[in-house]
Amino acid sequence: MAPHRERFDVLIVGAGIMGSALAYHLARDHRKTVAVCERDSPAAGASGKAGGLVSAQCWNDWDMVAVEESRKEYLQLSRLADTGLYEPSGGIRAVGTPEGERSIARTLDRLRSHGIPAEILRPSELAALYPHGNFAGIRQALFTPEDALVLPTDMTQLYYRQAVEAGTRGLPAPVEGTVQRKGDLWSLETAEGEAAAPTLVIAAGAWSKKVLATMGLSAPLAPYLTRACLLKVGNSQRFPYFHDADRDVYLRTFPGGDILAGDGTELVEVDPDRVAPTDNLAFVEHIAEFLEVRFPDWAEAPLSSAWHGVITSTPDRRPLLGPYPGVPGLFLATGFNGFGLMRAGGAMRRLAESMVTGDLAPLGPCSALRFPPPHTPFAPQSGFTLD
Ligand SMILES: Cc1cc2nc3c(=O)[nH]c(=O)nc-3n(C[C@H](O)[C@H](O)[C@H](O)COP(=O)(O)OP(=O)(O)OC[C@H]3O[C@@H](n4cnc5c(N)ncnc54)[C@H](O)[C@@H]3O)c2cc1C
Repeated sequence: MAPHRERFDVLIVGAGIMGSALAYHLARDHRKTVAVCERDSPAAGASGKAGGLVSAQCWNDWDMVAVEESRKEYLQLSRLADTGLYEPSGGIRAVGTPEGERSIARTLDRLRSHGIPAEILRPSELAALYPHGNFAGIRQALFTPEDALVLPTDMTQLYYRQAVEAGTRGLPAPVEGTVQRKGDLWSLETAEGEAAAPTLVIAAGAWSKKVLATMGLSAPLAPYLTRACLLKVGNSQRFPYFHDADRDVYLRTFPGGDILAGDGTELVEVDPDRVAPTDNLAFVEHIAEFLEVRFPDWAEAPLSSAWHGVITSTPDRRPLLGPYPGVPGLFLATGFNGFGLMRAGGAMRRLAESMVTGDLAPLGPCSALRFPPPHTPFAPQSGFTLD
């Protein structure tokens, strides 16, 4: 008897927010049969560790529209879940240099050209939003009142559940070395048997490079660490998330009156399976120093928890979406440079559309075809630039 082989339209490796949102769009909007292979649980990777900021302050028109689409999708999805999953908070990016002011001016023009509300605030106006703040040295800030906060784990799990409700099958991870092209189909073995489809998507976040390596393929990806922590400030007022662009630290309110602070990025490539148990001390000290300057009342707040996650850099700091150059039926959905949570909804809707129609236009400047092999090593760079 021939071994059991289950056939799908699309196989996806990785059920972080990218794999889950892509499955949701393919299954719900395009009626595709989809299987998502996850080695742990949805949100076990970076998606469950994110700060949850959704900011319209983006690097170009494509990006701004993708984030705006994501934000609206998150708001709509959040109505299916408990309150608190999506919070319309508004957001601030504060700068203290003339270069920062020029960057803000360009972003403001872009926001206004898309009809997204935005305004420049002076330090005295910031004080009204953040009564605990000290804004010495800040020249100005860009306020985007429709920016939001989401709960990253809940949002990822919600996408996954919605994808399953639309018919997506959840499968265990592929057995290493079994992902291969057999004739016109991609095939992989899991503990539940063989699965096959004409299309395979690698959406394994920081592990994507390793998954591709098991298939004998390279990738222009460099996984690296970033960190966040929760501080018990107790009964804090809700406030727009605050990003100090010069120190590259952000703060957001968190349910229960805590504050989440993030940064701690280490620009060194790591193996996501060999990251040592977290040594977050230096990061926590860095946050305490930041708070002493900007929010002195909170500098002594007890630490609730601190963690790291592995995120994925690309040579030009833009995501890698769409066909892998020269390999039939293979697609990428990764390389979000530390800012994927706010882009998943819009970016995965576009990727699903592009996969179904074959038109690469929805992928804009993020098409993975821009980096044909061979791929050479490169140093991770910090996040997205605004320009
Ligand atoms: C501390 C921190 C703060 C952040 N803050 C923000 C923020 O405020 N806003 C924002 O937009 N972004 C933020 N990010 C970035 C964001 O979390 C990521 O860009 C996004 O979650 C990437 O999603 P993903 O689905 O590509 O990857 P992941 O969530 O890492 O998902 C990859 C999945 O693949 C699975 N996997 C791995 N190997 C295999 C295999 N062999 N087989 C099957 N499955 C496999 C993993 O278990 C995992 O579930 C932050 C990240 C961190 C770490």
